[in-house]
Amino acid sequence: MSRSSNQPRRLSKSFETRSAAAHRAEPSRPVLKRKLSADAGIDTVAIRGGRKPDPTTGAILTPIYQTTTYAQDAVGVHKGHTYSRASNPTVSALEDALGALENTPSAVCFSTGLAAITTLFLALLKAGDHVVVSDVVYGGTVRLLNLVLEPLGIAASFVDTSDVKAVEDAITSRTKLVFVETPANPTLKLVDVEAIAKITKKLGIPLAVDNTFLTPVLFRPLDLGADITVYSTTKYIEGHNATVGGSISTRDAKLLDRLRLFRKSLGSIQAPFDAWLTLKGLKTLPLRIRQHSRSALEVARYLQSHPKVSKVFYPGLSEFPQHELALRQNRSQLPAKRSLKNADSETFFGGIVAFEVAGGVDSGVTVMNNVQLCTLAENLGATETLITHPVSMTHGDVPREQRERTGITDGLIRLSVGLEDAVDIIADLEQALDQVVTKTTTTRTTTIKTRGRARQLA
Ligand code: PLP
Repeated sequence: MSRSSNQPRRLSKSFETRSAAAHRAEPSRPVLKRKLSADAGIDTVAIRGGRKPDPTTGAILTPIYQTTTYAQDAVGVHKGHTYSRASNPTVSALEDALGALENTPSAVCFSTGLAAITTLFLALLKAGDHVVVSDVVYGGTVRLLNLVLEPLGIAASFVDTSDVKAVEDAITSRTKLVFVETPANPTLKLVDVEAIAKITKKLGIPLAVDNTFLTPVLFRPLDLGADITVYSTTKYIEGHNATVGGSISTRDAKLLDRLRLFRKSLGSIQAPFDAWLTLKGLKTLPLRIRQHSRSALEVARYLQSHPKVSKVFYPGLSEFPQHELALRQNRSQLPAKRSLKNADSETFFGGIVAFEVAGGVDSGVTVMNNVQLCTLAENLGATETLITHPVSMTHGDVPREQRERTGITDGLIRLSVGLEDAVDIIADLEQALDQVVTKTTTTRTTTIKTRGRARQLA
C-alpha cells in the first residue's frame, strides 16, 4: 500500500518509546568529562578543549559531515544546521576547539586565511572608512587592500606599527580598524600589542592581530588588550601542508554574529574535510610549535655564525632589535605542564627565520636553488622545512617602494623551519651555502620571475 503524502514522517510513537527505553536500560558507561579545569595546560587544551564525542555514535573524533543540507523536522524546526554555507557540524567542532585554545567563545572558520581577513574587513569597513595596517604584512593582505578594497572606497595606510606614535598619528576620524601582523611576514618585525591596544581602546577602534606566526600557544593578543585575532590555519594550526584555512577569534559576541552573517553572505566558510584535518593537526600544535621554535633558534644561531650570511632576522636572537619586546610579549605563553622541567623558563619565538646572504641577490638565489632537504615553496608553519623567496613568491604584489622601505629586499630568504632533525636542516643549508662562491662567479645575472613577468636582477 502506498504511503499517502500527508502521512507523518516520524516513526511511530510506540517505536520511539521502545527505543528510548532500550537505551536507558543500557548499563551506564563512564562519560568523558566535558569541562576542562580552568588551569589545564596548553597541551591538554589543544587535545581536549571544546571537544566532545559525536553525540550520535560516541565516535571520539567528530566525523566529517560531508553534506550540503540538513533535513528539518518541520518548517522552522531544525537541529542547529540548515545549509553548509552557513554552518557545518565538523566546522563547528573546529570552532569550539579553537575557542577553547584561546579562551574565547567558538571561533569562526573560513576557507582560507585570506578569506578570514576579507570577511573581517568587509564586516567592519565600508566606503569612506580607513584602516591602519602594518607596513610589513603578508603580501596577499596588501593586494586585497590595494586591488579590491581601495576601488570600493576603503582606504588603507601602511604604517610602521612597531612605532606606537606612528600608529597614533596615522589614525583619523575615519579609521574604523587597526590591523597589525606580528611577527610580520617576512621580516619578523614585532608590534607592541599592549601599547597599541591602549590607544585603540581609548578611541574605541577595534584592534585586530594577525597571529598566524605564533598562534595562541606562543602569543595571546586578546589577553593584552587586542579585540580580534586572525589566523591562517593553513600554517601552524593545521601544520601538515594539507589544507588551506582561516579563523577569527574574538570575545565580542555581536562581532561574532556579524562575522557569521558576512561569511554566509560571502560564501567564505571552510570545507568540512579541511576542518576535520585541522582538528587533527590542532591536537599537536603546542608540541610542534615548541619543536619548530627550538630548531629555528639553532638554525638562526648557525646562520648568524656563518661567514657568508650577512643578516639574520629571528626574534629569539639577543641581537634582534626587538628581542626585549619578544621576551616581554611572549610572557603570555602558557607553560607546558607536562614533563618539561624547564617549561617555565624556556621562551619560544616561533619557527620562522629570515636571512640575507653576503653577495646579494645572486648569492641568495644560489642558496635557494641548491637546497635539497629544504623545499623551495610557498607556505610556512608545517612539518616540512620550506624555503621561500618573498619577492618572487609571497610578496610579489607589494609595491617595490613599500618593499624597499620595509626591508623586504630582493635577496631576502624566508625559512620555515620544519620538524626534521635540526642537524639535517643545518647540513642542507651548509652544502647550499658552500655553493655560493662557485655559482655566483658563473652566473652573472639571475632571472627572477615576479608576477609572471621575467625581471632581470643585477
Ligand atoms: N596571514 C599571514 C601572516 C600569512 O602568512 C598568510 C599566508 O601566507 C595569510 C595570512 C593568508 O593565509 P592563506 O594563505 O591561508 O589564505
